[in-house]
Amino acid sequence: MTTTAPLRTNLLGMTREELEAFFVSIGEKKFRATQVMKWIHHEGCDDFSAMTNLSKALRARLAETAEIRGPKVIYEGTSNDGTRKWVVEVEDGSYVETVLIPADNGKRRTLCVSSQVGCSLDCSFCSTGKQGFQRNLTAAEIIGQVWVASRSAGPCRDTSQRPVTNVVMMGMGEPLLNYDSVIPAMKLMLDDCGYGLSKRRVTLSTSGVVPMIDRLGDELDVSLAISLHAANDELRNELVPLNRKYDIRTLLDACQRYLKKCDDTRLITIEYTVIKGVNDQQEHAQQLAELLRELPCKINLIPFNPFPHSGYEKPSRNQVMRFQQWLYELGYTAPIRSTRGDDIDAACGQLVGRVKDRTRRHERYIQSIQIDAD
Ligand code: SAH
Ligand code: SF4
Repeated sequence: MTTTAPLRTNLLGMTREELEAFFVSIGEKKFRATQVMKWIHHEGCDDFSAMTNLSKALRARLAETAEIRGPKVIYEGTSNDGTRKWVVEVEDGSYVETVLIPADNGKRRTLCVSSQVGCSLDCSFCSTGKQGFQRNLTAAEIIGQVWVASRSAGPCRDTSQRPVTNVVMMGMGEPLLNYDSVIPAMKLMLDDCGYGLSKRRVTLSTSGVVPMIDRLGDELDVSLAISLHAANDELRNELVPLNRKYDIRTLLDACQRYLKKCDDTRLITIEYTVIKGVNDQQEHAQQLAELLRELPCKINLIPFNPFPHSGYEKPSRNQVMRFQQWLYELGYTAPIRSTRGDDIDAACGQLVGRVKDRTRRHERYIQSIQIDAD
């Protein structure tokens, strides 16, 4: 007869409400939830025996029935420009990538978080899309990326010193197609007993899943970024196939509804990947400016990051600057998102992760991503 170990409840991805319910269900007081959350998210602790403000009996009970199980780090590297990347292994052996990008002399440290392994939306210029959809990440696997990056700097109670100051859901996957896990993970990012980030510092980027934008607006008013990339439906249908379902007008209307639900003045971020000879001409800048006239927004230009067999080319620096200048003349200041971390394949659209396999591909992958320590 074989005996299997009892399944333990992973507390890592639980929101405050869920953790309170958990403690009540085991006959404990609600406030245990905030105590344990601080241990997990502020201290980076995964060992109940170290939680000294809990009774010994409770610590022992938690050790038997629960766990704090983060994703396993299989690679950690720092780029020449200070960008850090972690490759973590999640439950089924798939890998996802998380990138921490320093800016403003290190004052801003933005973590780019993945929401899915692969992506089903198949945008023509995105390497994650080319890899296809594998599966949704759980809330624990999503917040686990923030947990891994944060605890790499050791325990930290002082919010102003936290290693992660901003989070963007711009890694692998379409966050609005994994709504039920993304929402609890974002609630933990915002919670004072979690990562204590303000809603302006947590950004969800979507290629335009319109019904879920409406749902998001009913629940959380985090910052919203829209991957637009084209200002007419014909071109956007080609670049972002989801546009055939929710066209540009429908998408921009959803953005307006979202802004109305926010209780402060807010701008939508419009992401525009500039692709050589595809959407980088003056007529495209004019169409874009015309299209966005009614929407309170800012435009971010992302030079296309090439990857093998993409079929697209990177625009020259000069061309991106010309595009920026045309927009400027039309009334828009559009920063160019600098390519960061591309020496460790950590730039936008280069995050591909890997799918579980039982061959030596795993080892080859680890070798292929090793970078020079200096
Ligand atoms: N699925 C979401 C979030 C992840 S993609 C979305 O599409 O918004 C994050 C950003 O990187 C998006 O704006 C996406 O369009 C952009 N991106 C994808 N591939 C890219 C590439 N090869 N070069 C530059 N930007 C890219
Ligand atoms: Fe998916 Fe975003 Fe890539 Fe499109 S750009 S395939 S939505 S990850």
